[in-house]
Amino acid sequence: MVTTQQLELLAPLSGVLMPLEQVPDPVFSSRLMGDGLCIDPTSQVLCAPLAGVISNLQHTGHAVSITDASGVQVLLHIGLDTVNLGGQGFTCLVEEGQQVVAGQALIEFDADYVAQHARSLLTLMLVVSGESITDVSGGEMLVEAGQPVLRVGEAAVQVSTQQAPSQGDTLFSLAIALPNPNGLHARPAAVFAQAAKGFAATIELHKHEQRINAKSLVAIMTLQTSHGDVVQVSATGEDAEQAIRVLSDLLVAGCGEAVTPAAQVATETTYAPAPEPVQVDGALLRGVCASSGAVFGQVVQIAAQTLDYPEVGAGEAFERAQLQRALLEADTALDTLGREFSQGPQGQIFSAHRELLQDPSLLEQAYPLLASGKSAAFSWAAAVEANEKVFRNLGNAFLAERAQDLADVGQRVLKLILRVEDAVQALPDNAILIADQLSPSQTAGLDTTKVVGFATVGGGATSHVAILARALGLPAMCGLPAHVLSLASGTPVLLDAEQGELHVRPSEAAVAALTAKREQQRVRQARDLAHAALRADTRDGRHIEVSANIASLAEAEQGMSLGGEGVGLLRSEFLYLERSSAPSHDEQIATYSAIARAVGPDYNLVVRTLDVGGDKPLAYVPMEPEANPFLGMRGVRLCLERPELLREQFSAILASADLTRLHIMLPMVTQVSELRLARQLLEEQAQRLGITRLPKLGIMIEVPAAALMADVFAPEVDFFSIGTNDLTQYTLAMDRDHPRLASQADSFHPAVLRLIATTVKAAHAHGKWVGVCGALASESLAVPLLVGLGVDELSVSVPLIPTIKARVRELTLKDCQVLAQQVLVLESAEQVRAALQPSHAANVAHSLVLEN
Ligand code: PEP
Ligand code: MG
Repeated sequence: MVTTQQLELLAPLSGVLMPLEQVPDPVFSSRLMGDGLCIDPTSQVLCAPLAGVISNLQHTGHAVSITDASGVQVLLHIGLDTVNLGGQGFTCLVEEGQQVVAGQALIEFDADYVAQHARSLLTLMLVVSGESITDVSGGEMLVEAGQPVLRVGEAAVQVSTQQAPSQGDTLFSLAIALPNPNGLHARPAAVFAQAAKGFAATIELHKHEQRINAKSLVAIMTLQTSHGDVVQVSATGEDAEQAIRVLSDLLVAGCGEAVTPAAQVATETTYAPAPEPVQVDGALLRGVCASSGAVFGQVVQIAAQTLDYPEVGAGEAFERAQLQRALLEADTALDTLGREFSQGPQGQIFSAHRELLQDPSLLEQAYPLLASGKSAAFSWAAAVEANEKVFRNLGNAFLAERAQDLADVGQRVLKLILRVEDAVQALPDNAILIADQLSPSQTAGLDTTKVVGFATVGGGATSHVAILARALGLPAMCGLPAHVLSLASGTPVLLDAEQGELHVRPSEAAVAALTAKREQQRVRQARDLAHAALRADTRDGRHIEVSANIASLAEAEQGMSLGGEGVGLLRSEFLYLERSSAPSHDEQIATYSAIARAVGPDYNLVVRTLDVGGDKPLAYVPMEPEANPFLGMRGVRLCLERPELLREQFSAILASADLTRLHIMLPMVTQVSELRLARQLLEEQAQRLGITRLPKLGIMIEVPAAALMADVFAPEVDFFSIGTNDLTQYTLAMDRDHPRLASQADSFHPAVLRLIATTVKAAHAHGKWVGVCGALASESLAVPLLVGLGVDELSVSVPLIPTIKARVRELTLKDCQVLAQQVLVLESAEQVRAALQPSHAANVAHSLVLEN
């Protein structure tokens, strides 16, 4: 930085001048921060000694920095140890980023209060950008505010805070929780900056998304850190390793301040056990986000109703007729619901329930009971219960899920026999539904004009119930403690899914804050929607393709109308969920062609072949029960075991080859041989159909083995798409639907992120593109990270397309890359989430400091 003009600094206060040597604080008296002067004030308004921009204003109001147009930085610090006053006694009259003129009032302070509560009122004015100074006060002891007192050196001065571009990899420290009671305020910041200047490497200090030049005192102060804030040091250059070691130790030790260790703050899990009991105003229950958003409403408990009914009936013929009537009514109701919700995956679930209703084994068990004189309700309930028990006791998640569906259907029929009105059908406004489990059919059947959110004890953030909730656009939380079920219906609650918090009887202030937040979100969503057609390019020009995750033609159409650049994942197993017999070849062709037409010839349509097994039942593909279905015959494994299924699907998909940019994707690939076998089948089918130009063939990266072997797969595929839902469950060995592990099965875990990084590196080395189609891509928080890791495409839940595109447009690739490298070395998902939290700090001053 070069100063070209003489600059005079005015006295910021009236008072008695003192040389710095006499200040009873070694950081100031040793000129560690910079040269300047000290005033024992007689006035109470601190004024600007020069014109410039407020480059930092400590939120406690006791210190302020001004940077002028030539880069001279002056720090004004009122009193000693005044940071401890926490803002008491100070009134700020300016804001960070504001342009001020020389002599302008900056901070008003209560001299009596400060003198009584702090160590001293002595006020410092220091030139912290390194220029030399000359005293022009004329040797007077008493000065008036506004009187010239110092001249900043004329000669060009090379300031040591400048960072020359360094070569080599950037290294990061571990995350460090600041032990300083007031964070890195002026004194510890000066010690840290001084230490950083001792290294040739380019050194930065990171807090969440913010990163600053660690050799600049003012830049450090712009971070506005507090006790326990998690920071990281990064260094690039020859002595980077040593710099990281020394500076990390310094931060842990408190940068010269007496401190109590705060390391726990950084590593502690944020998922503390929920407090008990819950009937306390303001109680807070924690869970995990299943679908983002926040909402205020009233509790509606939808625990399954206990229905009373007689065991003995009024004669077989009468009871049989009752059962027949109820079955017929249930069938009609499910048919109507299926049509009503035909626009999304929920419609298919109702159809699947219709199929269950027709299962002969239920009636086979109910009829003998009717014949023995039992009532219709009793006979039906007994038949359902017996079937449910069989499913549950097999210890198979796939069948256990069918048992839940069966219980659902059973309850529907039972209510119809007893003519009990469905409790969920008469909901109050702003209902937040609370349940142990919400089956897909319950979420699908919600009246979204009344329901504003839901919270469950069971379920997981990546379960298909959560996927449905996102499709409905409702905030949802799962993994809540069981005592949430004892909250009385009508209790006001605030559900903040993003924070994973359910506040019971929240304060008026909390509700007002939420209302303001929602309004902001509404405005933002409206803006994102208005700009949905714009490209998703980062500010420095990197294009990210944002496409849709779909399960139906309706979603394909909606995705395209919301600015989706094609379809990144068509979950084909959802297309015929309700069928108990396989769809005909022509039906399949018609379905894929309609979707291909909706996507059009200019965009990609990525059709994933059937991903059946694990948590995804498909009635027309019956499977043997398995002890560990997630580790069993799932995805491509099952299809290769039944190659006819795959051949049939390939040939139906191939019929769309000319309608769109067709891509075929294989799920759950683990072995290279699986890819080769599938390719062979595809080529055979194409040959049979006389198709010479094969569609692109890619694989999902959702098994850690595939991620680790991405360099082996890459030459043989056209693309990768990372399924973070399964990749997370297999990497962390945590069932994606496990209620008690839901909070830990987090795709932000560094282990998952490292596998993404490995995949991208391998793909790009072979010129192949990489998408992410798991739920992580639909999280705004993850977007800078995924962009920084080099991901080319984000395939997201349809309603979130405009939001994710807008988020991309806010970013710069360069910043994202630094952020990505930073989080890869963190220890836990909590630390990663903390590092990614968007900072709302005024960045004007921050960027100004960085530029100088
Ligand atoms: C995934 O595993 O991330 C994925 C996209 O596939 P699904 O959720 O359908 O298993
Ligand atoms: Mg998957």
